[in-house]
Amino acid sequence: MRQLEQGVAWPSPGTKFWEAPARSSPMPVDVGGGSSSVQPRDSRSLDVVHFTAELAPIAKVGGLGDVVHGLARTCLARGHNVTVIMPFYECLPQDQIEGLGFDMDIEVPKGKSWDGEIQLTTLKTAVYRGVIGGVPVILVRPADWDACNLFRGGRIYGGSYNELESYLYFCRAGLEYLRCSGQQPHILHLHEWQTCAAALLYWEVYSALGLYRPRVVLTIHNLDNTGECRQDEFAFTGIDGEQFATIERALDERTIGHNPERLNLMKGGMVYSNAVTTVSPTYAKEVLSGMQAGWLRSTLMRPEVNSKVRGILNGIDVEEWDPARDELLPANFSAQFPDGKALCKKYLQRGLGLDESPDKPVVAVITRLVPQKGIHLIKAALFRCLDKGAQFVLLGSGHCDGEFKAMAEQQFKDHKDIRLLVMYSESLAHQIYAAADIILVPSMFEPCGLTQMIGMRYGAVPVVRKTGGLADTVRDVDSHAPGEANGYTFDGTDEGSLHGALDRALTHFKEQRASWSEFCATNMNPRLALTHFKEQRASWTELSATNMNTELSWSRSSADYVALYNSIAMP
Ligand code: ADP
Repeated sequence: MRQLEQGVAWPSPGTKFWEAPARSSPMPVDVGGGSSSVQPRDSRSLDVVHFTAELAPIAKVGGLGDVVHGLARTCLARGHNVTVIMPFYECLPQDQIEGLGFDMDIEVPKGKSWDGEIQLTTLKTAVYRGVIGGVPVILVRPADWDACNLFRGGRIYGGSYNELESYLYFCRAGLEYLRCSGQQPHILHLHEWQTCAAALLYWEVYSALGLYRPRVVLTIHNLDNTGECRQDEFAFTGIDGEQFATIERALDERTIGHNPERLNLMKGGMVYSNAVTTVSPTYAKEVLSGMQAGWLRSTLMRPEVNSKVRGILNGIDVEEWDPARDELLPANFSAQFPDGKALCKKYLQRGLGLDESPDKPVVAVITRLVPQKGIHLIKAALFRCLDKGAQFVLLGSGHCDGEFKAMAEQQFKDHKDIRLLVMYSESLAHQIYAAADIILVPSMFEPCGLTQMIGMRYGAVPVVRKTGGLADTVRDVDSHAPGEANGYTFDGTDEGSLHGALDRALTHFKEQRASWSEFCATNMNPRLALTHFKEQRASWTELSATNMNTELSWSRSSADYVALYNSIAMP
């Protein structure tokens, strides 16, 4: 430990320590197995164009940004030509876009409805090129930003612009760019409701305008938001929405008989795509069984839609999330060289002003604070940790963060075991994952979930509600063989169910330490004690090591996507 400590810039409690380097120079550890990101080259190279509202690391709000980035990067490494088309948000840090340069101006058809009539114009659009995190990007925005506020403001979502208008314009602009630049990608890979209109526009407009080769994949990352849109609002694409207002196409069935009836972009996206994926096999099952489909259930029940939906489990970017090389950490570690993790824990405890005890398990939650994430269970876990002598660290923000803000400022302001950080910080997230003994994800539903996987990569043990991708990635210690088991799961949405799993994890963590101190106290034969200590420790440490060694990279998932692309691509 002493050697590891050399060069560590120990933080002062109460400072924004995560904004400064944690050590004077990086000290990566030998990676051993489990970290390889070398990809096999695929025999056929495909041209893939993603349409997305988010791209990590600089345009990320949640998992969507991570997923598009990880998939794109891995497919590039497999030998495919991948480009990401995304909005040029005003809030993007332009100094982090490599080689940013102007590409071309294009005239993008755009309309608005006025007195029941569609008025058509064009909007001069500036297209830029660059590279974000190793991925080639095309960024589109109105050429004259002073004349309209599309994608303006300090945030990606919830800023000062009209999201529906902006994303409908974006879909049209992306396709118009492909047409003007004469490209014929094999695959248009769309993500979430924001880009669904591109599927409708491609098949109804652009396939007659010379863009003929692309086949369309839609990935649903979350069915919570599906993009409601009045027919007249669809005119922001420059096309009248009326032709899509049928039950077979994009009409929102709940609005039949209302004035006005509305379209649903996600429904249209599913209908107009050649293949639809969601981000884990269990979420796909939940969606297809109607359990998580909401009112889109009837659309998903249609055989022609049902048959093209499948679940492909997300991976994580194992280079971005690599405890052996992560330069944001005060010490690096791996399954083979785990010592740095203890230092990361001590560093975080000191920086956050927590009791610097290695014996108190750190339970971490890193999340958007929205109902999906199980707000009442996050709160219940906080109080359970308090009762059980564990530490609880929350990093999160979102529209349900009010109560946590209040608790952070009052009840738990200088608490020695609880820290509630109501904010977004990429670097603090890295440090919390590295310090965490337990990563908690008590979601009400979870299409895939990345935090349990990132936590595992950093040696934490996940405690999760068994839903969606959490059910696909976490196997309970008490019902799986050692080596296969990797965490704790629970089913119910009530506090009792959460307590059951959390308590088992906390007991597991504490038992090994208790038994060691018991041995010391009873002054047993030191040789026996040592064996016992090792055996006991092995259970938690082995679990942590198993998790760090788990294959979580995009290798497996990208192979599934490539197989899907090949199954629908034109020769
Ligand atoms: P979702 O996409 O529903 O938000 P995921 O678990 O799929 O949930 O992905 C969440 C991603 O966002 C992870 O990379 C996680 O580390 C990150 N994240 C969530 N909240 C924060 C935060 N407050 N600060 C930093 N990173 C965060």
